[in-house]
Amino acid sequence: MTHAAHVLVVEDEPKLAALLRDYLGASGYRVSLLDRGDGAVDWVREHAPDAILLDVALPGADGLAVCRGVRAFSAVPILMVTARVEEIDRLLGLELGADDYICKPFSPREVVARVKAVLRRAASAAAPVRDAPIVLDEERFEVRVRGRPLVLTPIEFRLLRKLSGQPGRVFSRTQLIGALYDDHRVVSDRTVDSHVKNLRRKLADLGEDPIAAVYGVGYRFEVADDAPVEPPH
Ligand code: CA
Repeated sequence: MTHAAHVLVVEDEPKLAALLRDYLGASGYRVSLLDRGDGAVDWVREHAPDAILLDVALPGADGLAVCRGVRAFSAVPILMVTARVEEIDRLLGLELGADDYICKPFSPREVVARVKAVLRRAASAAAPVRDAPIVLDEERFEVRVRGRPLVLTPIEFRLLRKLSGQPGRVFSRTQLIGALYDDHRVVSDRTVDSHVKNLRRKLADLGEDPIAAVYGVGYRFEVADDAPVEPPH
């Protein structure tokens, strides 16, 4: 990498913070540590890190408030760290705009891999979209895959628009239902799954498979995997 990506770790457990600093440091990242939530948003504004590992339960201000505060001015990748796996669903429902969710206890190796992945996605998302294989025409309700037209149902179009609008972000089925129907109808998770299945089949017919299932959570639109692991500058 041309320069080390700068990762901010906001974690109030000193041992855990030190462990993350050591592992991320050993992987070539520059690491800064904060042990409180209050002041974190200002710190991010001032130092503009390339990624943030953000604990949910923090003294001063919780990770949710920090995430919202940062999202008000920055698209920096944010990985929320929570002590309870059940909380991930609730966090997703809050639409915080975090990029990934990690549950404690975790292996530091896994955390490094996830940080690497969000940085890679951020770098590809920042790359020019001129050559994007999939182009949505909002006006005409049309989709083109590498220049070839793809006929979708309105539901499939909305599904693709929602997922591809924020590449790399995981959407729960509930969030997707909200984007697909505007009449608050009751739709089962299986219905979402079958629309996703049909959409993936149509895309696969044209050689694209950008939608990934995230086990136990929902779906995400993957961005190109061949981008260098560098911060988006
Ligand atoms: Ca904590």
